[in-house]
Amino acid sequence: MSIIVNNVTKLYGAQKALNNVSFNVNSGEIVGFLGPNGAGKSTMMKIITCFIPPTEGNVKVCGFDINEQSIEVRKQIGYLPEHNPLYLDMYVKEFLEFTGGLYKIKNLKSRVKEMIELTGLQAEQKKKIGALSKGYRQRVGLAQAIIHDPKVLIMDEPTTGLDPNQLEEIRGLIKTLGKEKTVMLSTHIMQEVEAVCHKVIIINKGEIVADESTQALQKNSNKQIFTVEFDKTVSKTALKSIEGVTEVKQMEGNIWQLTTSFEKDIRKEIFDFAVQNKLSVLTLNKEEQKLEDVFKQLTK
Ligand code: ADP
Ligand code: MG
Repeated sequence: MSIIVNNVTKLYGAQKALNNVSFNVNSGEIVGFLGPNGAGKSTMMKIITCFIPPTEGNVKVCGFDINEQSIEVRKQIGYLPEHNPLYLDMYVKEFLEFTGGLYKIKNLKSRVKEMIELTGLQAEQKKKIGALSKGYRQRVGLAQAIIHDPKVLIMDEPTTGLDPNQLEEIRGLIKTLGKEKTVMLSTHIMQEVEAVCHKVIIINKGEIVADESTQALQKNSNKQIFTVEFDKTVSKTALKSIEGVTEVKQMEGNIWQLTTSFEKDIRKEIFDFAVQNKLSVLTLNKEEQKLEDVFKQLTK
């Protein structure tokens, strides 16, 4: 296990930003940390990276305790903070040599060259950071985060503000890095999780509301919702007996919402049910639930 978060609570004054949060990240996984603005993503990441202490609870990174072994934890972690703070007046190469120097890396020059190649900064290496586009600044941020070859890479909204091409490139780079490292990235974009992550942890108002493989969440999202209006009263139990129905909710009067847990279309079954029970179907609508909807539901 690379990251173990145990009952972490964080208070900013009277405001609770994290409420008893627990989750694990396995070695070699790319995990998406998903949540709306203000959910507590950055706070959690700052705690994992030892930038701020938790009010309560504990985190272990590669077996090291953030409260007691913060220097060891920092060695294991590469961190790309939310607004990617860079020295805009420094040249790319100079900046990477500077950050590498802080870690007392041996063969610094060749390591910087390696990072420049890995992140595709060859053509920009002699430019000032301030002259780079947002996508290239993110690459510098990534190069800076992995220069000491950490086992764990934490990225806070690494693709926010990028144009579609830059987005693709940075996602590709994250996937490449994810082959060798444990990666945790935060985002408020569901598609991002689908595109790059093995697992998704959803946080809302400081609490974890989902912790599943992306596949499981996708499966869960395959459910379909049928809204049907009958002309007469029906019992909930009777509706539950329709093949494939997993949930029944009364909307109002004779309008019902029936949910299936899989992709099967049960409109025929609903009609057959109506005929058998001498009911007329006044309206019938089918909605598909997408991953996006699952996120909305969980974070409403
Ligand atoms: P996210 O990254 O998911 O958008 P944050 O972790 O930044 O969320 O914030 C979680 C909550 O904590 C928000 O309500 C935010 O306003 C509050 N918060 C964050 N940082 C501070 C701080 N330094 N002082 C007071 N409140 C803060
Ligand atoms: Mg944030």
